[in-house]
Amino acid sequence: MGCGTSKVLPEPPKDVQLDLVKKVEPYTGHKTDVYKHFIKDDGGGGLKTGCPSPPYHIQPYPGTHLASHMEPHEPRRTRVAKYRAKFDPRVTAKYDIKALIGRGSFSRVVRVEHKATKQPYAIKMIETKYREGREVCESELCVLRRVRHTNIIQLIEVFETQERVYMVMELATGGELFDRIIAKGSFTERDATRVLQMVLDGVKYLHTLGITHRDLKPENLLYYHPGTDSKIMITDFGLASARKKGDDCLMKTTCGTPEYIAPEILVRKPYTNSVDMWALGVISYILLSGTMPFEDDNRSRLYRQILKGKYSYSGEPWPSVSNLAKDFIDRLLTVDPGARMTALQALKHPWVVSMAASSSMKNLHRSISQNLLKRASSRCQSTKSAQSTRSSRSTKSNKSRRVRERELRELNLRYQQQYNG
Ligand code: ADP
Ligand code: MG
Repeated sequence: MGCGTSKVLPEPPKDVQLDLVKKVEPYTGHKTDVYKHFIKDDGGGGLKTGCPSPPYHIQPYPGTHLASHMEPHEPRRTRVAKYRAKFDPRVTAKYDIKALIGRGSFSRVVRVEHKATKQPYAIKMIETKYREGREVCESELCVLRRVRHTNIIQLIEVFETQERVYMVMELATGGELFDRIIAKGSFTERDATRVLQMVLDGVKYLHTLGITHRDLKPENLLYYHPGTDSKIMITDFGLASARKKGDDCLMKTTCGTPEYIAPEILVRKPYTNSVDMWALGVISYILLSGTMPFEDDNRSRLYRQILKGKYSYSGEPWPSVSNLAKDFIDRLLTVDPGARMTALQALKHPWVVSMAASSSMKNLHRSISQNLLKRASSRCQSTKSAQSTRSSRSTKSNKSRRVRERELRELNLRYQQQYNG
């Protein structure tokens, strides 16, 4: 998703035409929902980008993330009807809107069924009336139109109106990474390396194409189906940067999600795709412990920890975690981006290679799931109290999770000297 005001508009893809229209508050009412029926026609009800095999399983999305994002007092039928009204007739002529499965600052994700084939898909609807929405949409389309990889969600077709873009994608029904870990009875280092191997394969592919995701985090890693053998898929390319071959590979845009953001972004230095590897270090740490390496409600203190690369392996279950696993994390949470492992190096790290072959491993599930649940409930509490002070159920909580530009400018001034020294 977008990083609020901090994001610089990326280069728009040539085949997307997005016009500026009057600004209104997103999702606060139906009054402004008048379709303009301006569609950049691709001649066949959308742009075909390839047709992957159908999703494995048709069932309501089981993720707990969904529950936390929907209004519990609203009957499901009303909710679906509300979102159906926001869909262009060209979309509803082809797809039945079944249920809301995800929400972001400028997007809604719904489960749909293709009327003719009965195949389920996901449609991400992005409001493009707002600058941030347009930026997110352009980044996402630019990347999704280029990629095809087993661990990356596949775009099927796109519908565009003047105010919204509808991306039809493969449907992942297995839920988000941590929902699955909590639901599982056991989780070992071997399980962790299997997850990381899939994510690293996807990231290696992206980096080879000159694409940097820039928002890798557990919420953007989805299981394809509920089965134990499900693959994991990288989603949400709203902050991604796509370079053409031969382009300068340095990026400058300050964006990301605070806890996962790399130190070089914080000090506003030109950075490379190694920021994704830092985020993977954070994900690996959480995957093995259920806790965050860098965490503080105070953003300045959080950023200070990140800049110093200051984290510890204290508390459960770290005494039971192998030194090789800790070495893997250390080589990703390396403040110097040049010394950080690349995706290829991470795939060849002895922990990943040796774990893939090992069989009996210590079950870390109890501590990890306890830590994850503790964290989820404390975040839920703080979100609830924050929401009770707001007049509308706008998406501020989501936006506030993004990096703030001014905050970083101030921090940068304070820490640049320390970082360089
Ligand atoms: P945002 O940019 O708003 O974060 P995402 O693309 O991450 O949007 O989608 C928001 C949520 O919707 C995800 O965290 C996930 O729970 C759900 N979601 C998104 N895409 C899919 C998909 N293809 N299949 C199933 N669920 C999805
Ligand atoms: Mg997301």
